[in-house]
Amino acid sequence: MNHRTGHLISHIQRLLHEHFGPLRWWPAESPFEVVVGAILTQNTAWSNVERAIANLKQARVLAAKPLAALTISQLEELVRPAGFFRQKAARLHNLARHLSEDWGNDLAAFCGGPLDEARARLLAVPGIGPETADSILLYAASRPSFVVDAYTRRIFERIGLLSGTESYDDIRTLFMQSIAEDVRAYNEYHAQIVQLAKSCCRKNRTSCHACPLNHVCRTATATGA
Ligand code: SF4
Repeated sequence: MNHRTGHLISHIQRLLHEHFGPLRWWPAESPFEVVVGAILTQNTAWSNVERAIANLKQARVLAAKPLAALTISQLEELVRPAGFFRQKAARLHNLARHLSEDWGNDLAAFCGGPLDEARARLLAVPGIGPETADSILLYAASRPSFVVDAYTRRIFERIGLLSGTESYDDIRTLFMQSIAEDVRAYNEYHAQIVQLAKSCCRKNRTSCHACPLNHVCRTATATGA
């Protein structure tokens, strides 16, 4: 990473923060609810996740032990609104069982210790990829692990800081080397990237004239926005 790239990534962080203000993610009442949300949100809209979480709350199973005690088919019914419900129920059940049987329901301990080791433990759970693992570490366990998603790739490719060939870990490392290790800063930066992707920098329609990043963005400069 050259010095200019790191400087620009931290400059963009300031611009987004000034534009959106603090977003205070993740919307959840408990760390375990964040874990469940991070798994259920794979390939679906957040509104569908909310419906599935409401079902789990109503059934009073939004904790590792009661969730692990459900049968798979009971859990499938509860998370059905989130889509891919068989796959997601299996992932949730597996993680809940692991947490309750091997970690005494102690999510903080499961996500504790050296960050790389905690991340490797999460990645070893079937169905948990890097984005889900980092979301759980950052938003459920308050560990400084930057979250990369499709929105991050889209925006930073359009800006001209990514080429599209970088791996997930390349991008995560780029951000973690550019922004001083700080849970609050990583929490807000990812949330603000998502906010920008849903407002100005949408997949098929950009509003570069209203975007707080237009003066540092190659796409906006190229189109004269
Ligand atoms: S200026 Fe346009 S292309 Fe660049 S980040 Fe903003 S909305 Fe996306």
